[in-house]
Amino acid sequence: MRLPIAALLALLCLTRPADAQTVPPAPPKLIVAISVDQFSAALFREYRPHFTGGLRRLAGGIVFAGAFQAHGTTETCPGHATILTGAHPARNGIVANYWIDFDAPRADKRIYCAEDERAPGSTSGAYRVSEFHLRVPTLGDRMKRADPASRVVAVAGKDRAAAMLGGHEADQRWWWKGGRFVQNHADAPAPVAEQVNAAVAAAIAVARAPLTPPPFCAAKAKAVAVGRAGSVGTFRFERAAGDAAAFARGPEMDAATLTLAAGLVHQMQLGRGPATDLLAIGLSATDYVGHRYGSEGVEMCLQLMSLDSDLHGFFTLLDRLGLDYAVVLTADHGSLDLPERAPGSGERLDRAATPGAVGDAVARQLGLPGPAFVGDWYLASTVPEGRRGEALALARQLLAAHPQVHATHTADEIAATPLPSGDPAGWSIVQRLRASYDAQRSPDLFVVHKPEVTAIPDPGEGYVATHGTVWDHDRKVPILFWSPMLIAQQRDDHAMTVDIMPTLASLIGLNVPGEEIDGRCLDLVPGQGSNCP
Ligand code: ZN
Repeated sequence: MRLPIAALLALLCLTRPADAQTVPPAPPKLIVAISVDQFSAALFREYRPHFTGGLRRLAGGIVFAGAFQAHGTTETCPGHATILTGAHPARNGIVANYWIDFDAPRADKRIYCAEDERAPGSTSGAYRVSEFHLRVPTLGDRMKRADPASRVVAVAGKDRAAAMLGGHEADQRWWWKGGRFVQNHADAPAPVAEQVNAAVAAAIAVARAPLTPPPFCAAKAKAVAVGRAGSVGTFRFERAAGDAAAFARGPEMDAATLTLAAGLVHQMQLGRGPATDLLAIGLSATDYVGHRYGSEGVEMCLQLMSLDSDLHGFFTLLDRLGLDYAVVLTADHGSLDLPERAPGSGERLDRAATPGAVGDAVARQLGLPGPAFVGDWYLASTVPEGRRGEALALARQLLAAHPQVHATHTADEIAATPLPSGDPAGWSIVQRLRASYDAQRSPDLFVVHKPEVTAIPDPGEGYVATHGTVWDHDRKVPILFWSPMLIAQQRDDHAMTVDIMPTLASLIGLNVPGEEIDGRCLDLVPGQGSNCP
């Protein structure tokens, strides 16, 4: 191992000499930050013995197997926003995938996290992709501020993943839409994306045979009946020629995303410039598979084995290019399997406990002109100012009597709680919700269902299982750091995804004032040395 100058100087100051394994690694020339959507800590643990490719490589690095997306509203946009900002949603502003803004300058008051509603004609369903709502800088923004020669690229299946990982100053930012990778028109051109899109179109045009599961996946193939959704548990990702939608919701999506990422590395010569570059990758297919088929069937097994293999190919390519790179891989949230697979393990949410049903009951009892709630527990504008307290109290009373409701909290209660710090495993529910709370964007009421309740009352095709709760099955995710310079470690400490940004910053000597973030630098160097300032 070649010692960096700074580490040598630090060594000279030590009273006891350290060996080469206990000094901070030299700064990498390329940071690769990967988010696997819905890759829970439970899935990582279950499949870890079976990984033979890229995930096996990362599992041989520094492994926080039970880390946390610490906040309470465990959705995709908030989860992605924590990873490269070092900030909880309470600070970064991304409290949910959607929120209600009654002051929005348009008729549609539902706001998408990754849109700019100021754009003419924008709606929550047809929007201009933007990081406008993200209130803090990302690692890439800080890198470019420190050295404008740093390049920042984000590639993802989902637009909100690309927006939240890419931040405000990304050089290129790509996501999947309607059968191809796109970016906003103002963004830089990239001929390689056209090549990848052409290759993707050619792949979609050809039918795909069912995947052949390895024996441990085949053992999971058992049909489970799920209401209107028919049955899940045995699908092997066969696809008709020309079916772009099917292409996008399985393993092929992640392979395509990694292909574009690799193409941009090559085209932009990432990792070969004068400053460290950042490549952020959002791999979305695991989430699509989880929502559509749950997390314990042959489908998830095939998805994760494909992902493992595709990541191997991606890393092998970076190796062949001779790049000096460091990787972090984590997830935006975990998940809960569908309740029907293991009867007795959980249940579906009763419609009587949904905002629609409770809002109707409150309106009826108080004689209000319309439903008392819009969206997820925002008091409707039709509730008179003087009756808001009364409406909230009645809703809480109705919910408290429901057997699936664990607790309810008003926005005022959450706002009065200090932002939590320390070990996220010990945070109370109110503290978890506080980390997700923003006075302008959060709802008026937080309703916490019991841990094994799936908030999909009536599952349909494509949507049988989900996440989003305050419970650890949705909060716990792996965080894996890998570079050739890092020594393997299994870590039991409860790292948080907000710790990723300051940790990566430390690897490249980038100063991040502690008061600007919620995370802390994780010491990745065993013994006396430290990567942290
Ligand atoms: Zn997600």
